[in-house]
Amino acid sequence: MAYTYDDQNIFAKILRGEIPNTTVLETEHSLAFQDIQPQAPTHILVIPKGPYVCFDHFAQNASDAEITDYVRAVGEICKMEGLEENGFRLIANTGRDGVQDVPHLHVHILAGRGLGRMLARAE
Ligand code: AMP
Repeated sequence: MAYTYDDQNIFAKILRGEIPNTTVLETEHSLAFQDIQPQAPTHILVIPKGPYVCFDHFAQNASDAEITDYVRAVGEICKMEGLEENGFRLIANTGRDGVQDVPHLHVHILAGRGLGRMLARAE
């Protein structure tokens, strides 16, 4: 399946500076900011600056430089936030079944409390 990027999604608007965000880290190819509706004491979203819909779109099409920058950005945030000690969860919701609301790749970094089991069955 070929993904089509919608440049009107809310994270594209954040990247263009059209709506505000609380930035945690900005690198050449990536931006990390606070989730507006945090689900845990630490809830940070990390997005690539390029127009990628989801994780597999990014993994298949991004340059090595973009991928390296993105993964390193996640690592840097874990260090900045001191997450090594108690751990964290990294989530990349994708598509319909993954219940992805914003069609621009983002990983959620969640931490700061016990996060429960990995999946809750949808009713
Ligand atoms: P997902 O369901 O994985 O697509 O998650 C989208 C996430 O984006 C949710 O956790 C929202 O709370 C978050 N979100 C939506 N709009 C904004 C915004 N303007 N700034 C920061 N986070 C946002």
